[in-house]
Amino acid sequence: MKYILAIDQGTTSTRAHIYGQRGECVCGYQREFPQIYPKPGWVEHSPADIWSSVRSVVELALNGAGLAAADIAAVGITNQRETTVVWDRRTGEPVYNAIVWQCRRTADYCKKLVHDGFSERIYNRTGLVPDAYFSATKIKWILDNVDGARERAERGELCFGTVDTYLLFKLSGGKIFATDYTNAARTMLFNIHTLEWDKELLRLFDIPSGMLPHVYPSAHDFGEIETEPLKGVHVHSVVGDQQGSLFGQGCFEAGDIKNTYGTGCFLLMNTGGAPVKSENGLVTTLGATAGGKPCYVLEGSVFVGGAVVQWLRDGMGLIKSAAASGRAALRAKNSGGVYVVPAFTGLGAPYWDANARGTITGITRGTTKDQIIRASLEGIAYQVYDVVKAMEKDAGISITRLSVDGGASANRFLMQFQSDILRAEVVRSRSGESTVLGAAFLAGISAGVWSEGDVLKLLGGGARRVFLPGMDEGERLSLLSGWKKAVERARLN
Ligand code: ADP
Repeated sequence: MKYILAIDQGTTSTRAHIYGQRGECVCGYQREFPQIYPKPGWVEHSPADIWSSVRSVVELALNGAGLAAADIAAVGITNQRETTVVWDRRTGEPVYNAIVWQCRRTADYCKKLVHDGFSERIYNRTGLVPDAYFSATKIKWILDNVDGARERAERGELCFGTVDTYLLFKLSGGKIFATDYTNAARTMLFNIHTLEWDKELLRLFDIPSGMLPHVYPSAHDFGEIETEPLKGVHVHSVVGDQQGSLFGQGCFEAGDIKNTYGTGCFLLMNTGGAPVKSENGLVTTLGATAGGKPCYVLEGSVFVGGAVVQWLRDGMGLIKSAAASGRAALRAKNSGGVYVVPAFTGLGAPYWDANARGTITGITRGTTKDQIIRASLEGIAYQVYDVVKAMEKDAGISITRLSVDGGASANRFLMQFQSDILRAEVVRSRSGESTVLGAAFLAGISAGVWSEGDVLKLLGGGARRVFLPGMDEGERLSLLSGWKKAVERARLN
């Protein structure tokens, strides 16, 4: 009997889960690590903190399950995407902290790229819109701002990696320098059509090609771990977290779509073997498959998802816990014409309006606290609706089912309302851990433990919760028209 160990290195915490041959979770451990905010809008992690959090959850998981390296058939890695580490090839020593995907320090430079007309060239090659999110401008910032870094990089002494690459390097004692298609696709340096690092973009950002890792499929034998406690085991998968979740949700076919309801919402749609160009403000990226070639994916995000519930709890003091929001919404029966547009930091896809701000409309003397809470949850679902509609338009596909996970997907009211408003089935995964499960399945497939068909069967066998649409069509259309008006008002700010 062999097991799969999957590591999920996330933005605020790291997890390690061990899965048995039937895909059952034997045990899972999670550890938070410090966030570093050197200036407003800047976010960093210490690579040493990331590495020690990984080592500690791996040890906890092995001990918790009473297993040793010899019992593990394969290791899978999924990770926060775009976060950028630059380190010395010989010593493994980072030259600067990891610059986290959320960090806005290169926002002005990205604005200039847009202003100077580079958007289309970048989109045509990478599928991305120039933004501080992606790794390219973060690498450039390190080379431009850390003493001696550019010279060292030009001499071939420095390595760049997203977190997966850094972990592979550490786990293998410096022997593996690699990443996968899904992580490479988020750097803004990778050509998603030729599946190669793009020479012209490397010139544009002034990044030496020698710094870049080899790129492989997500399900692949990346090589052997040389450090304890996993010495001798091979890493058999690497996948960016959102693509890990897409795979872990079993979204293997074109038109399959998932949403993760976390702090923000991340929607990804598998579009199959061909990229879909977005006319509606989505990005085109690569997804994980069981085979050698990646699939293409449309991605859209909502900045404020579960975060509106945190605001109700911590900012407004209207609820004591996130879970209390669902009970309040059910008590309210309806939102009484109130709409909450949680555009706290502007609106993402499909509006892309940085100036929009949070807005509550339709308040009367009779409006209750519970109705404001209900309208806030509905505001999450309407934003997801808007992104799904943009995906349908771009892909020319009509959605009948949305697979969901993430913290706020625990909210039954929200899931039922989402299903009603989309007029589609909403399927909540069995474990709420699709991301780490995706990495485990990919690793198991690469190591020959499972086939893709086995994985689909394992996914189908688990307990899932399905929400079916039941709302009267007249009511649905009237609610949606009210939402449209509320969004227009949020954009007047
Ligand atoms: P992240 O990975 O972004 O930290 P999680 O997937 O852990 O996010 O989800 C956390 C988010 O989910 C928080 O914003 C929290 O407010 C929200 N949340 C958690 N439980 C509920 C619930 N029962 N109802 C609504 N929102 C919830």
